[in-house]
Amino acid sequence: MDDLKTDVLIVGGGLVGLATAMQLQQMQPRKKVTLIEKDHKVAAQQSGHNSGVLHAGIYYEPGSLKARFCVEGNRALAEFCERFEIPVIRCGKVIVANTDQEIARLETLTTRGTENGVPDLRILSNEELAEIEPHVKGNKALYAPHSALVDYKKVAEKYAAVFQNAGGVMHLNTKFESVTSTEGRHRVVTNAGEIDTQLIINCAGLHCDVIARKMGVDPKLRIIPFRGEYYQLIESRRSLVNGLIYPVPDPSLPFLDVHLTPTVDGAVDAGPNAVLATKREGYRRSDFSWADFGSTISYPGFWFLAARNLGAGISEINRSLRISVFAKSLQRLVPEIRKEDLVPGHTGVRAQAVDSRGNLVDDFRIEESPGAIHVLNAPSPAATSSLMIGKHVANKADLRINAD
Ligand SMILES: Cc1cc2nc3c(=O)[nH]c(=O)nc-3n(C[C@H](O)[C@H](O)[C@H](O)COP(=O)(O)OP(=O)(O)OC[C@H]3O[C@@H](n4cnc5c(N)ncnc54)[C@H](O)[C@@H]3O)c2cc1C
Repeated sequence: MDDLKTDVLIVGGGLVGLATAMQLQQMQPRKKVTLIEKDHKVAAQQSGHNSGVLHAGIYYEPGSLKARFCVEGNRALAEFCERFEIPVIRCGKVIVANTDQEIARLETLTTRGTENGVPDLRILSNEELAEIEPHVKGNKALYAPHSALVDYKKVAEKYAAVFQNAGGVMHLNTKFESVTSTEGRHRVVTNAGEIDTQLIINCAGLHCDVIARKMGVDPKLRIIPFRGEYYQLIESRRSLVNGLIYPVPDPSLPFLDVHLTPTVDGAVDAGPNAVLATKREGYRRSDFSWADFGSTISYPGFWFLAARNLGAGISEINRSLRISVFAKSLQRLVPEIRKEDLVPGHTGVRAQAVDSRGNLVDDFRIEESPGAIHVLNAPSPAATSSLMIGKHVANKADLRINAD
């Protein structure tokens, strides 16, 4: 890459960076928008290692960015996929309650989802549940018919293609390393050359806090990586699952418990769990990075989080190591699943932002600093919401490049 001059530099070729790039270039056809991605392909991190679910928007705090962007994002992404002939499978989702406590939580979820504007949400009768998911055990279930499946790698590739067709420039194998700023412009040093830009948009996912700090911004949070491990159901047992089957979230636990997710290519994933990763891109148990692990354990927020969730953390490690324990969790949803029905599947790593008191940052967080916009927390449902997050960030960037 030769020395390059651009109006806007987007760091990160995941769904959020690509959706931002695509929409900004469409809004500003005469401005030069450049995206750099350190890997050799787009969506090589979270965006290409997720559950492939187009969420309906039930769980999130009414009025939050997550609630708004997920409900609108589900619709917008389905339209995008239809336009570009990317298959979307509308398999629907059941959230299953068994205990009295879960039933009470399910009722709260129903109210919340309705308040968020999730369409066609309804409680199923036992007969309806038996018809939709004959192998599920549930005293009560909530049904979201608009939850769907999609291949997010294909979505990311299409975002990249539309961006480039609109005149955008993308450099793969190009890593943001450092930056110096003078007179309203930034000089970004990458492994492949230097880039001069007016505005930087940080969409670096698992590394967004590091990049913010390199730009002199204190993000007031740290990214703690959590590995999500999946099993798959063996082929002969896939018929136990028709659509998405989820438990009622337990508010005392930091992450949603394991669930069953069909995939667009006909497999059935079981998981993911949530185990602390010792490397930000640590997809295997043996992956370790001193820099990343040091960043986690030197952060007071991590220790507050660990102290509050010690029991859950130990149970999660136990479940990660013992397939029988994993199978038992799934049996709460589908009692017929046995450990012999499971084979190891893929893994993903979540970029979870944690504040200095050990609270998981719940909502999407997007912050601005001189000459930059930082996406500092974009966990699930950010894939579903990617078009809306991208539009929100692109609107901010549009104002900034017009004003400056
Ligand atoms: C296990 C798992 C399951 C999930 N399931 C779902 C789901 O079913 N539905 C849903 O809506 N959401 C889901 N999510 C969440 C969703 O996948 C993510 O929130 C979303 O992909 C985040 O996109 P992103 O672009 O912010 O991050 P990423 O996809 O991680 O992209 C960031 C990019 O920045 C690049 N980068 C980092 N540092 C640099 C640098 N220095 N220079 C250049 N490039 C850099 C990285 O290589 C990467 O490509 C899931 C996430 C996980 C981990």
